[in-house]
Amino acid sequence: MEASLYIHVPFCTHKCAYCSFFSVPRDGGERSYLPLLVRELSGLEDLGVEAPTLYIGGGTPSCMEAGFVEGLMAAVRQSVRLRSGAEVTCEANPETFTPALAERWALVGVNRISLGAQSLEDGVLAAMGRGHRGADVPRAVEAARKAGIENISLDLIYGYPGQTLAGWEETLKGILELDVPHLSCYALTVEEGTPLARGLALGTLALEEESQADMGDLAVSMLHEAGYRRYEISNFAKPGQESRHNTVYWERKPYLGIGAGAHGYLWEKGGWFRYFHANDLGAYREELETAPEKRFPNRGYLSRAERMFEAVMLSTRMARGLDRTAFCREFGIRVEDAYPGVIQPLLEGNLLMERGEYLALTPRGMDLQNGILMKFMRDC
Ligand code: SF4
Repeated sequence: MEASLYIHVPFCTHKCAYCSFFSVPRDGGERSYLPLLVRELSGLEDLGVEAPTLYIGGGTPSCMEAGFVEGLMAAVRQSVRLRSGAEVTCEANPETFTPALAERWALVGVNRISLGAQSLEDGVLAAMGRGHRGADVPRAVEAARKAGIENISLDLIYGYPGQTLAGWEETLKGILELDVPHLSCYALTVEEGTPLARGLALGTLALEEESQADMGDLAVSMLHEAGYRRYEISNFAKPGQESRHNTVYWERKPYLGIGAGAHGYLWEKGGWFRYFHANDLGAYREELETAPEKRFPNRGYLSRAERMFEAVMLSTRMARGLDRTAFCREFGIRVEDAYPGVIQPLLEGNLLMERGEYLALTPRGMDLQNGILMKFMRDC
């Protein structure tokens, strides 16, 4: 079967102030993690999986002990056939991504790096609780290139308390000088339970929504000017350099989620289902040790209405939009009839546009996607 692979590595050297991802501090527990991943991967051998993409994310894969990614890649190749030319991405943080590590990763087939740059301003990085300084970002990019990994993506965050429009512009200028093929620009979202959320609740930090919107507009115009295409709400790429792995998610293609906290999306005779591993190392270990036959735990089968909503939600993240013919073929109903009274007002309000068979969000619609989706939810 064809399925992409996502492998979660939930260890970090410290916790960033805004982070709600499943990540735990490196405290020695990371040394017993690779055998668990190997065990889960070996349980897939009989499926004959052929993977067009592999994404090793986290957490911080670059903070793991020497040999971790090499061991993981060997286990992947043992259990799954990586398609020739497969995109193999590994996430890294600038402070732990050294030239030696880049070379070791390149040797075992990592051909794309997603680097958590976030900003080039030291003050903003410190406020975010990041472990690197701005100058570490070009060093890490250089390390990847020296190892022969040209396919580099940088993650950036804007709208952080204390960040200014002028500072963001300087970050964007510095990032554009690096001339990497792919950039992800995320508007800050405040997640409950984080130090950031607590600071905002106490009033020691403040958000400026207007300036966040201005920062988003600035990024869109500067990146467009520099030859990047906004192919997804938060993602920008030079032509042909879009993330193939993330496109699998947006196109609702199947993928396996390996590791604690990982999610997967697959089809079997009962229909399409999503599954996940617990956000807990002990529970993940227990899953593998006590019920190895349950290789896709915590399954939730999707109803037709849920799949229709996901089709709208995920395809409208992409600039290309929703393929109405494909929607009708899959669900046996026109999208306009599936959501009566929803689409026309969005077209008239300049939030949605028609491009041949495709229905796509306008740039303004992209900025308001969450609110727009509520309309589809109510009528779902
Ligand atoms: S490095 Fe990434 S995963 Fe780790 S705490 Fe920071 S934001 Fe979260």
